[in-house]
Order: sequence, then structure tokens, then C-alpha cells
Amino acid sequence: MAAPVKIGDILKARGLINDKKLDIALIQSKITGDLLGDVLVKLGFLSAKERGQILAEQSGIEFVDLDEYVISEDALRLVPKDVAEKNQFIPLDLEDGKVSIGITEPGNIKAIDTVTRITKKQAKMYIVDRDAYYDAMEKAYYFLENPVYQQMEKIVKDIQTTGSPTGNDIVSMTDMLIVEGIRNNATDIHFAPTADVTQVFYRIDGVLQFGHCLPKSIHIGIVSRIKILSHLDIAETRLPQDGAFTFVFLNKGYDIRVSTIPTIYGENVVMRVLSGKGTLLRMEALGFDPGDTQNIRSLFQKPFGVILITGPTGSGKTTTLYSALREVNILERNVLTVEDPVEYKLSFIRQTQVLERAGYDFALAGRNFMRQDPDVILLGEIRDEETAKIAIRASITGHLVITTLHTNDAVTSIPRLIDLNVDKYLMSSSLLAIVAQRLLRKICSFCKVEYELDDQEAAVLREYGVTATKAFKGTGCAKCNNTGYAGRTVIGEILVIDDEIKQMIYEGASAPAIKERAIQKGMRPLKNHAVRKVVEGITTVEEVLRVAG
Ligand SMILES: [Zn+2]
Repeated sequence: MAAPVKIGDILKARGLINDKKLDIALIQSKITGDLLGDVLVKLGFLSAKERGQILAEQSGIEFVDLDEYVISEDALRLVPKDVAEKNQFIPLDLEDGKVSIGITEPGNIKAIDTVTRITKKQAKMYIVDRDAYYDAMEKAYYFLENPVYQQMEKIVKDIQTTGSPTGNDIVSMTDMLIVEGIRNNATDIHFAPTADVTQVFYRIDGVLQFGHCLPKSIHIGIVSRIKILSHLDIAETRLPQDGAFTFVFLNKGYDIRVSTIPTIYGENVVMRVLSGKGTLLRMEALGFDPGDTQNIRSLFQKPFGVILITGPTGSGKTTTLYSALREVNILERNVLTVEDPVEYKLSFIRQTQVLERAGYDFALAGRNFMRQDPDVILLGEIRDEETAKIAIRASITGHLVITTLHTNDAVTSIPRLIDLNVDKYLMSSSLLAIVAQRLLRKICSFCKVEYELDDQEAAVLREYGVTATKAFKGTGCAKCNNTGYAGRTVIGEILVIDDEIKQMIYEGASAPAIKERAIQKGMRPLKNHAVRKVVEGITTVEEVLRVAG
């Protein structure tokens, strides 16, 4: 049993776990018979991805992040699913006559033998994480056997021939639109009628991308289908409505939140897809710079006060919360959360989920948490005056409160809280820090090239004190769906509320004045962080303009 002990040591050396956590995991592994690494993942001390990365380092085999990787169908066709599954590997790609495969355990010799025997080609190995493996296997082979695009085209042709869609056409088309969204990790599916056709868009990595064009004759049918699924009124087409339903795909449930509005060309529908697939990353992996990471880490160790994480929807606030929470000493501090929805389940933390129809919301949870002997309270979001006041009150009575707010930068959270009638004195005495963040798309490493900046781009960088003639971009390849981007990284700014800033808040200083002083004291604004990531070749000027404006 040399390997399990080793993983414990590595994790300890990196500060990922301490002796106490390791002891608890060891006891559990003895009782359940699971490998230590698996128990650590189950307990939430380690994410499956981190486990994969550590295995990769230990074995000297490169790691592939399946969440950011497009698997080649040519490679999949070479190996039947049951064979790959039985031997615990996944075909990834064909590289220079070799078949590359992902394995979950470095010692999997059987996988290599099998690939070589079946394909008559040499195999090249990569390590993949085990959670992502099962998910990727199911999806990859499903789409190989069910070419969604062709099936959609066939339905469109049928409708053109017959003039109108059948009930079956409507049901399958609706399903396929959602399935295609899930396949692309889309957060939103837009179903937008125009004068002549209906266009479908997907929001992927924060950017709207064109998906399909459908004949107008199927529009009303699909809208009705979505309305029936989400218990909305089919007859009401003149007023906005919202609802939700659960969509099951490959044995997994996806919560879909539906919103409709009447436009001049018919009802526009947006479906938000909640995958329930929150990411658990180590603070260092999020994209904050080392100084800010250290800052956030020490903030989360404080005994009381309010930490605000701000940014628009989809800016990675929840991921930052989870990553930071994981480093709170959860064995000695009682952590209670109310979330909407719970995106990642962490052991040792009491997580609850908002249930509006039963009346369980952020405010009700916040009030009742106080009777649960809490140390740390996570309030998913400050949406109204009541939640804001509960957050402040809880912190003043000696608890660490972590919450989020929708504002564009750190400092505008202060006037926002004043708008919510939070007392300036209470605010200034309870706020510890405000972290504002955004997500930028990272350049795809498979098609990254250096190029000459044009005048306009160079001017953008110059505005932030950077003189450069060259930068990087992705040209687009099969690995990144021709977008030139793969994965995302955080840019952040942290406003630490020290005594001087407290005084400014209390005296009612304006947001710009507070911002100016904070920058003098070392706060690095969001845009400067974004520009630095261009210089480092992580992202593009285009992304900086898109996200940080
Ligand atoms: Zn690429």
C-alpha cells in the first residue's frame, strides 16, 4: 500500500490537507475499504481533478482536462465502448499515427495492450480524472451513435416537405436542442424568433454562439413543449412567464430554468441549464495572483466580519466561494450555507438549498442559522434589504459571513448596500473585504500563435501602461471547437476594508474617492489584472475588451 501513503504526504506537503483531515480519511478508508485518494475526494478534501493532476505528476504522464477537451470521433470509432470501459480508458485523438488515450490510473498496462491490439497502432497515454472519465465516456459515445446535427437536419427537411411539423418532430427537436446545449457545456439556450426563421444560440464560456436555424413553422410547437414541461400557461403568449423543469440525459438530471418574453416575432425563450457540476479547485488554480490568493485565504480565517464576492452572473463567484471555504478549518468551525442551488457538495459543511415555493429563502435561512450554533455562514446572495441586514447582524454577533452581490466592481458594493438601507456605521465596522471578479477565456494551447498587434489593440494595452507590439491568440482548431479558446481564468480586484477605508465609508465618501484611495494603497483594478494576463499570453486583447470593457 505504498501509493496511498504517498498521496497523503504529497497533499500534506502542499498544504492541501492537514494531519486531522488525513486521519479522518484514513479511518474512513479502513471502514469502507476505499482507496485513500478516493476517500479524500468523497470527503471534499481533494477534487477529482486534483487527484488526477497529482497522479499525473507522480507518474510523469501528462494530464488532460476532459472538461476542456474535444474528443476526436475518429479515435472513438477505433475502439468499441464496452472495450474501452472494461479496460478503463477513453480514446482521445489520433496523433502522428498514434492513438492517444486517457487512463485514470497510471499503472493501467492493460489499456495500452488493448489499444495496440485492437487498432494496430501505438498508444500514447494521458491521465484523466475519474469523475470526468465516466461523464466523458457516456457523452462521447452517445454523440458518436446519435449524430444530433444530422438528426436535426432530417427533421428540418421533413418539415419543409410536409409543410408542418408532427408532434414527434417537436418533441425530438426540443430534446435535441437541450442535449446539444449540455454537450457544449452551455449555460443558456436561447430560442429566438425572427421574421422568417427561429434562431438558436448557446452561451458557452460566457459568450453567445450561434447554434441552429429552424423553420418558423416549428416555433410555436417548441415553445408550447417547453411551457408544458415547465408548467407554464400555453395559452398566454402576450405576457412574460418563468418556470423550471428537470431534464434527464444519460441518467443525470439537469435543472432547467425557463423564461419567456413576447417579442414582435413571437415568444422568445431562454433556458438556463444548471448542470449541478460546480468546480472545486485549489485557490491557486483559479487565476488570482499569488498576493491576492494569500489575501483571500487569510480573510477566510477571520473569526467574524463580512466578506463580499461580487460580479455579474457567470463570473465564477461560487467557484471562488467553494475553493476558499474548503480552506476554512471546517473540522473546528461549524459552516452553514444557503445556496440557490447547491452546486458542489462538501462533507462537514451543512449545506441547504433555497426552496422558494416552500418559503425557504436566503432571509429565512439566515435568521434560523443563528440558532444552529454557527461559526461561518454562507448566504448565497444578497438580493434584498432583509438579507443584507441579516448578513451584517450575523457578523456583528461574532460570525464570519460570506456572501455575494451583483455589482460591477468592488467599490460600487458600498453604495449598493447603502441603497439597501444598511447603516453606514454597521457596514463600515463589519465589512472585511470586497472581492470583485470576472472570468476570461484562456487561449487554446493547441492553436496558440503569436501575432502583431494592430494600432487599436496596442492602444488598449498602452492605456494600462503596457507597451507591446505582439500578443497571443488562438487560431481555432478541432480541440477548441474552432473558437481559439479553452477554459477560463479569473481576474479579480480586492478591496480590503482597513481602518482608513472604514472611516471613509462611515463619513459617506463617494465610491470613486474610495476607489482612488484603495488603488493608492495597492488595490489592483480588474482591468489591470486582465491586461497582465494578455502580457502573460493567457488571454487575448479581444477578451479584455469583451469582459473588462
Ligand atoms: Zn484550438
